[in-house]
Amino acid sequence: MHTTIDTDEAPAGPEGWHRAPSGAREMFSARDAEGLVALRRDLHRHPELSWREERTAARLELALAAFGVADVRRVAGTAVVARVGGSTPGAPSVAVRGDIDALPIAEATGLAYASDAPGVMHACGHDVHAAWAVGAALLLRERPAAGDVVIVLQPAEEVGEGARAVLESGALDGVRAIFGAHVDRRFEVGQVVAEAGPLAASTDTFEVELVGAGAHGARPHESSDPVVGAAALVGALQTVVARRLDPALPGVVTVGTLHAGSAANVIPERAVLTGTVRATTPGARALLLGEIRRIAEALGPAYGLTARVTITEGTPPVVNASEPAAWARLAVARVLGPGAAVPLGTTNMGGEDFAFYLERIPGCFLRVGAREPGGEPVAAHSPRFYAAEESLFVGAAVLAEAARAASEAISSQATTTRRGVS
Ligand SMILES: [Zn+2]
Ligand SMILES: [Zn+2]
Repeated sequence: MHTTIDTDEAPAGPEGWHRAPSGAREMFSARDAEGLVALRRDLHRHPELSWREERTAARLELALAAFGVADVRRVAGTAVVARVGGSTPGAPSVAVRGDIDALPIAEATGLAYASDAPGVMHACGHDVHAAWAVGAALLLRERPAAGDVVIVLQPAEEVGEGARAVLESGALDGVRAIFGAHVDRRFEVGQVVAEAGPLAASTDTFEVELVGAGAHGARPHESSDPVVGAAALVGALQTVVARRLDPALPGVVTVGTLHAGSAANVIPERAVLTGTVRATTPGARALLLGEIRRIAEALGPAYGLTARVTITEGTPPVVNASEPAAWARLAVARVLGPGAAVPLGTTNMGGEDFAFYLERIPGCFLRVGAREPGGEPVAAHSPRFYAAEESLFVGAAVLAEAARAASEAISSQATTTRRGVS
């Protein structure tokens, strides 16, 4: 765990820069900072795909133990859950979540600690998120929150399944607030987004199967041609966002695949389209999915076809509640000073399975700046994506402080209520 790495002398890879004037590194002892850097680099070098995070989970358990966090257990296969005791017996508990899985992408960062696993890469920064949660546990052990803090190291975020599995395990039962964050190279290290409202989109998929009657390509009058119906449907689906969704709300309907036919002179019997749907509020999500179904089921018969529509629900939109967002902003100010909290700007239309927690537990998902000064704003899921090392300390410190702020506020609300009643 505490392998000594002099971060100023270590090979820098494309980062070429390690220190930012964030001040967050100084919240850790030199030894712990080195330990966290070593942990992150080790996770980055050994990425594992969703639900296969065996080595990762074992490594995280070791890291927690090395940092003195004793109450650690496994749930849902490869999820690691730790409980860091609070200072006030009976105070409500809150949670900090970091996700741990990697992506099937061949790394092209040139980092000194680049992936050793062919075709697998931490291209979404979950190596850093996992280290954040461990770093937050360390800080909360040193200076506890009022109540216990449950540290969740969650697998399988990239397939949208891990958060649900953790919730079903009961590991978060009774938790009153939850915080998580994502690295983001649109923002410099030291900048953090902690806002109420929509932060990421829902990610549902649809499939439409159009079934007609095949025929010789030269005898179209003997067919009900699903290719013509599919072409019309692709066009008609463009009206969902353009004509049905409130233009003040972002939304996406993308047809990503369209399969039909096997020969140039044969009209096939069926065509299948699949696509993805993104929305940032539960209402917009329901509207888009309902309109896709309505249009497909109406257009099919208009072309003499049967339309079978299958909607597969993915992650809900990430919508931050206002109180937890205020606690997170307070944490950003305490750790990084005034001015560190920056506006999100454009809503991210990607998805994030943290949304499942937010359906059950009030919370806030943050974006933590991960671009070194002068660096490129590379998007996550790119083979060139990495988070600047200094973001490691910012995320850990902000998440720990958000847990403290939430715990403090919820405890004092409980006290006030009890006094009010008596
Ligand atoms: Zn991702
Ligand atoms: Zn991610």
